[in-house]
Amino acid sequence: GQVDMECDMMVLGAGPGGYSAAFRSADLGLNTVLVEKYSTLGGVCLNVGCIPSKALLHVAAVIDETSHMEALGVSFAKPTIDIDKLRGYKESVIKKMTTGLAGMAKARKVNIVQGVGQFLSPYHIEVTAADGTKKVVQFKQAIIAAGSSVVNLPFVPADPRIVDSTGALELRQVPKRMLVIGGGIIGLEMATVYSTLGARIDVVEMMDGLMQGADRDMVKVWQKFNEKRFDNIMLKTKTVGVEALPEGIKVTFAAAVEGETAPAPQLYDLVLVAVGRSPNGKKIAADKAGVAVTDRGFINVDKQMRTNVPHIFAIGDLVGQPMLAHKAVHEAHVAAEAAAGEKAYFDASVIPSVAYTDPEVAWVGVTEDEAKAKGLKVEKGLFPWMASGRAVANGRDEGFTKLIFDAETKRIVGGGIVGTHAGDMIGEIALAIEMGADAVDIGKTIHPHPTLGESIGMAAEVYKGVCT
Ligand code: FAD
Repeated sequence: GQVDMECDMMVLGAGPGGYSAAFRSADLGLNTVLVEKYSTLGGVCLNVGCIPSKALLHVAAVIDETSHMEALGVSFAKPTIDIDKLRGYKESVIKKMTTGLAGMAKARKVNIVQGVGQFLSPYHIEVTAADGTKKVVQFKQAIIAAGSSVVNLPFVPADPRIVDSTGALELRQVPKRMLVIGGGIIGLEMATVYSTLGARIDVVEMMDGLMQGADRDMVKVWQKFNEKRFDNIMLKTKTVGVEALPEGIKVTFAAAVEGETAPAPQLYDLVLVAVGRSPNGKKIAADKAGVAVTDRGFINVDKQMRTNVPHIFAIGDLVGQPMLAHKAVHEAHVAAEAAAGEKAYFDASVIPSVAYTDPEVAWVGVTEDEAKAKGLKVEKGLFPWMASGRAVANGRDEGFTKLIFDAETKRIVGGGIVGTHAGDMIGEIALAIEMGADAVDIGKTIHPHPTLGESIGMAAEVYKGVCT
């Protein structure tokens, strides 16, 4: 067949995985084509994920902070919110970042081909632009970074009052009563934004706790602090019906555990469905390239991010959990380096998770609950922020910092922080784990006083105090 373009490396998808892979490939001397269906780079994370959510969460945090100030003797007037201007701010943040990425692609001579890519063979992909024009790109190697999409509930009708995370980030309205279906990180971050802007919120979650994956003691602190933020948190509850009525969205529930009673049906002005994301593996004609895709749409890879077809790599949300941007970026670098002939492997021991709620909840490596479930012998050092001068001075001492050590080697294997700025601090614990640090290493590292980060050193000191 006809070939319109040739390249050393074709990257499919321009999310954090794809653009990182393309940039690294180009830096390593590979002539690189980046295929993306949208007109901007950055994928889900930059356009409808990590970054816009943080722009809105920043504004929510400032509003919340002013309300906490009353107890400290300073009162502000109730804020007036110009929702169009706020949306404009969020959009300007995205614009700055996508423009920056476009500049970086240009500087590296990465060739961007806009359109939907579908493999034709192990060495060809067809890209269909919005106007229907098609281009065939021939490549020597490829990195698939096509990401993931939101999961929809089959019984949910189309209605402007029912949104997914993308719709919620559009911030078209602040409803009076809102339901968040799914008590994971994305749902709770959006709940934080909307409740601060004035919505009354219910959360419904099928499991018996919010923020699955985080230790329950951390979630407890978060939940206590947020008691007033929510009208109702319905755990172990399934959403079984969603009906768009003129007077509101009627939602029906069922108990997830047999024999328990379900909450009564409720009417909402806005319903956010945040029940997870599914990989896009089945949408790219991977079979034409000979690349195996699992039933659920994931692509399996080895430690070099190679698929079953050795010159085709895959990275990011598409290759498995956790579906996080920082994982995608690191996998991207490994794939590009391996493709360029370097001995690169994905060898991270741990990948941190953060809920950018108020307070933030961050964790990395082995959690206490996981250790218990798996019978791992661990010990912990826990430093309550009530004893942190800085946290007390900030008027925010509800949190704690917890380090998890292997009981035998005394090396750190995990950690969790709940409190303001937890996400900014969890990287230190990840570094300590990667470096094989023990409690003495961490405790004897001089942290500046008074900082919240000091609580990490203190947690190690607490542990040493117990065990020596
Ligand atoms: P994606 O970002 O999904 O990018 C894939 C790209 O491929 C897209 O641009 C898509 O248009 C393109 N594409 C797909 N198929 C084709 C095709 N056939 N042809 C052409 N182009 C195609 N993660 C964090 O780490 N921190 C956070 O704070 C965070 N917050 C989030 C908040 C929300 C609301 C959401 C939804 C997600 C959040 N995430 C966060 C997750 C994060 O966005 C993803 O893990 C990350 O974007 C995955 O990167 P990726 O490169 O694998 O894929």
